[in-house]
Amino acid sequence: MPSPIAHLAAGYAVYRLSCNHEPQLTMQSIGSAPRLLVVTAVFSLLPDIDSAIGFLTGDFGRFHNNATHSLIAGAFFSLIFAALMWWRGRQGFLYWFAVAMVSYSLHIMMDAATVSRGVMALWPFTDTRYLFPVTLFYGLHWSDGWLSIRHLWTLLTELLFLALVLGLLQLQPQRAAVKS
Ligand SMILES: [Zn+2]
Repeated sequence: MPSPIAHLAAGYAVYRLSCNHEPQLTMQSIGSAPRLLVVTAVFSLLPDIDSAIGFLTGDFGRFHNNATHSLIAGAFFSLIFAALMWWRGRQGFLYWFAVAMVSYSLHIMMDAATVSRGVMALWPFTDTRYLFPVTLFYGLHWSDGWLSIRHLWTLLTELLFLALVLGLLQLQPQRAAVKS
């Protein structure tokens, strides 16, 4: 799996690309952070909730990249979240579903492009693990131990990925300010 740096970079891209579409839904904040930013960050990291079981049981490899790294699981969590948001505000079901699902799916795709055994992207229909033919991330390998020089490589490459994402977002056309 890539580290949270790369996953949060992807979540931030979803935030930046979707924050202007439904201003009436996205202007609200949680504390000092825009609510939409919190949502994209949470859903871009949510598949790795299975890491908690691995840490608790001391058997990281057995539980990681399994059911929570499925597109069906992503659709399930996104549906529940969108339904809760609709229940609160009576609007925005499709918007919140799309934002959550895209953030979640990007995580799965990035893991499938990482040095690993692959992700169970179509669980529960099949336990087959999928990997993209092209590897983009070295990722975290806890079997290397907590202090490994290889983590520096992960850190460096994912900071470069973050810089690339931020650079590409700068190319995004700016919306003209709405005159009142
Ligand atoms: Zn993951």
